[in-house]
Amino acid sequence: MKLLVKAPAKINLSLDVLYKRTDGYHELEMVMTTVDLADRLELELLNDDRIVIHSQTRFVPDDDRNLAYKAAKLLKDRFNIKSGASITIEKNIPVAAGLAGGSSDAAAVLRGMNKLWDLRLTLDELAELGAEIGSDVSFCVYGGTALAKGRGEIITPLPPPPNCWVVLAKPAIGVSTAEVYEHLNLNGVIHPNTKAMVDAIYQGDYHGMCANLSNVLESVTFKYFPKVKHLKDDMKRFGADAVLMSGSGPTVFALVQHDSRMQRLYNGLRGYCHQVYAVRLLGKRNEFS
Ligand code: ATP
Repeated sequence: MKLLVKAPAKINLSLDVLYKRTDGYHELEMVMTTVDLADRLELELLNDDRIVIHSQTRFVPDDDRNLAYKAAKLLKDRFNIKSGASITIEKNIPVAAGLAGGSSDAAAVLRGMNKLWDLRLTLDELAELGAEIGSDVSFCVYGGTALAKGRGEIITPLPPPPNCWVVLAKPAIGVSTAEVYEHLNLNGVIHPNTKAMVDAIYQGDYHGMCANLSNVLESVTFKYFPKVKHLKDDMKRFGADAVLMSGSGPTVFALVQHDSRMQRLYNGLRGYCHQVYAVRLLGKRNEFS
């Protein structure tokens, strides 16, 4: 039996770090939403006991370090499953980009193998398991739009944001999330107004959403990779309504409402940035389970 699952990328409409906890993790407050740029995973049951990853992408491990592998292994061990799984990943989301590609693959495997192994777990149960794999996996299990707190695993659903284009640009550098958090100094940072962002989403207020895009990690990534800051400035000049770095970067995204402006921005960036995508917000949550 085979199953195809989509694993969409996420962007952060806001990302705040409140403080460093005694367990070493950071206490976060993030507004996240999924966009229509997705990896595709083909899942298949195997009669023997193995989990096999097929991935043609450089920088993505095809062994037990792959987050998709970890997700299948977690379900298999927890529920004492005898059969194996073959997981083929068609990678469309840029890697180490701040778009949660690996976490979304893991979440897609949790949802898909839940079906193939007939485990009948709810999305809430899958999200709880996902938190054992990585902080963004719980959000990716639900998809859609949410406020994420704690390490990112405490999820409150939000309505879909006002519709618009999202133009994503990824400079040719990889950023380590762990290193960005390590270099973050919370003294003097400007914290996002998360409540104002949540209110804007509830009210369908596009301009309010644009005005409240904010990410405390920008200050760190911009310092070590000034190229990312220049890209953000360029995107504003090309006519974006609002621009923000996603996650720990280096992907920067612009919001625009009008098709003609989206086209101008996209064409302008294509001139010198290798990976540029114009996509829509997905907004809505996953429905099954
Ligand atoms: P986040 O936004 O959650 O911080 P990211 O988009 O910055 O994530 P990923 O693309 O998820 O980063 O990849 C981070 C690292 O995880 C990569 O360097 C890669 O080696 C490893 N990895 C493991 N499994 C996967 C996977 N299925 N897809 C992509 N990367 C993976």
